[in-house]
Amino acid sequence: METILFLSHADAGKPALEALAAAQELGGTLVVGLFGADVQPFANAIAGCGAARFLGVSGADFAPARYASDAAAAAALVKASQATMVIAPATARMNRILAGVAQRCGGRADTHVTGLSAAGVTRWYYRQRMEAVVQRTHRPWFIALEAGCHAPYTGAAGTAAVETVPVTLPALPTTVTGVHAPQSDQQTIRPDAKLLFVAGAGWTKKQPDGQTHVPEAAELILGFLHKTQASLGSSKSLVDLSGEGQVVLPFMSHLNQIGQTGATPRHPKGLATCCHGEEPHVVGWRFINERRAINLDANCGWARGKADVLYVADAFEVMRKVNALLG
Ligand SMILES: Cc1cc2nc3c(=O)[nH]c(=O)nc-3n(C[C@H](O)[C@H](O)[C@H](O)COP(=O)(O)OP(=O)(O)OC[C@H]3O[C@@H](n4cnc5c(N)ncnc54)[C@H](O)[C@@H]3O)c2cc1C
Repeated sequence: METILFLSHADAGKPALEALAAAQELGGTLVVGLFGADVQPFANAIAGCGAARFLGVSGADFAPARYASDAAAAAALVKASQATMVIAPATARMNRILAGVAQRCGGRADTHVTGLSAAGVTRWYYRQRMEAVVQRTHRPWFIALEAGCHAPYTGAAGTAAVETVPVTLPALPTTVTGVHAPQSDQQTIRPDAKLLFVAGAGWTKKQPDGQTHVPEAAELILGFLHKTQASLGSSKSLVDLSGEGQVVLPFMSHLNQIGQTGATPRHPKGLATCCHGEEPHVVGWRFINERRAINLDANCGWARGKADVLYVADAFEVMRKVNALLG
């Protein structure tokens, strides 16, 4: 029988609850391994998960995300648990250490996993065109489960008896002095959003009055995102403009790009604006269930069966009105 370690930093939130629920369903002997400033509150929150043991590495040294201390803590937890399988949430913090910890423990790691079952783990290849089921006989097997692929653990809280696992840290080469991150409302990529709002290069092109209106485009797009908390996607042409020295939307980066050479996000709905809807772009929409587009051109790519609804209209006018209606 497998010994399954659910391994996470203690402040991983919902992705950790999802990975825990997936680990529970595998059967086998479940062990919880947590590291962070103080693991007890999270251990208590999941006390009813049926784990045979709760292992923890706590302390100020383990509060910040730092490779040296995180990897040392995780490796100690894996060794103390004698796990044959290690299930971790694919947070940035876990993804950074998982392969290194697998190496330290003589294991193998699979990342970007979207499903776990007795038959193996599922993950996508070739920009999400092919789904594979991966099986391994080598143990320990480290698996990073992507967020949003499993229902989170909702079981009872309680008081967990956490066994402290000692970790002797090497001389730490990195001192974490703080975190610089944009305000959460400045983050435009929101994987949990119900709506994907895509902006195309048309927002920066000359409009019927012969002028460009980039500042107004920025205001309309950011206004809509602020009011709806939609996630922002882009066409390749729009994010490439900065390299061509043209006036650009400053909040847009290549990370926003959707398509063949960009991202393939999963949102229930999508709205494309000022975007032509060419195949290399639309291929990134394959997991968007309901698609709408606003384009001046009735013959744009969206009109050819790629959108459920095409509004042949000026996106400036439409979004101005929509933002006004949103209040
Ligand atoms: C190998 C390869 C890989 C590629 N990968 C990607 C990819 O990953 N992602 C991607 O996006 N592209 C990709 N492309 C590029 C893709 O083929 C298109 O060139 C690109 O998507 C076009 O971007 P766009 O629609 O924003 O710009 P444009 O083609 O310039 O279209 C702008 C649109 O805006 C409309 N418009 C202008 N003003 C308004 C207005 N006021 N109201 C409404 N509509 C308006 C116009 O009618 C036009 O349809 C790739 C191409 C290749 C060759």
